[in-house]
Amino acid sequence: MGMDSGMRVGMEANMRVGTGWDLHRLEEGRSLVIGGVSIPSSKGSVAHSDGDVLIHAIIDAMLGAAGMDDIGTLFPDTDPSYCGADSSELLSKVVELVAACGFHVCNLDTTVVIQSPKLGPYKAAIRQRLASLLGVEPSCVGVKAKTAEGILGELGTGSAIMAQAVVLLGT
Ligand code: MG
Repeated sequence: MGMDSGMRVGMEANMRVGTGWDLHRLEEGRSLVIGGVSIPSSKGSVAHSDGDVLIHAIIDAMLGAAGMDDIGTLFPDTDPSYCGADSSELLSKVVELVAACGFHVCNLDTTVVIQSPKLGPYKAAIRQRLASLLGVEPSCVGVKAKTAEGILGELGTGSAIMAQAVVLLGT
């Protein structure tokens, strides 16, 4: 009986969790955009879009939670209209898509792995930007930054950036 009532409560809440992950190569002379914030750096993401690795991970987490197709299917890099695309705009579209399915973001937690530059000074701005794009309070957005401790191949040598996101959607 206890289990029955617990299952009903879970269904009524209708919470959906999703995870996302992304990786980009970093090269000299490219711009570095993380979570919709431009970060001063000699190296930036190699990508068809603006290469915002964090927003790409968040988009996949949201789409996964909503039971929808992934970012590569929704915004294919073979489509010239996404060349140099502002990933913040893509995230806004995804917020609308999941809202159309009746979902809103409850909270989001993320980790960015980059050898340099250190992201500490930019974390508050990234949280603020993501919160505004998602329509939630900054307290509902987690942004953690780590180095690769000089190991993990290209991540450790500063030739790549990686991001991971977990999102909880609710109705
Ligand atoms: Mg990407």
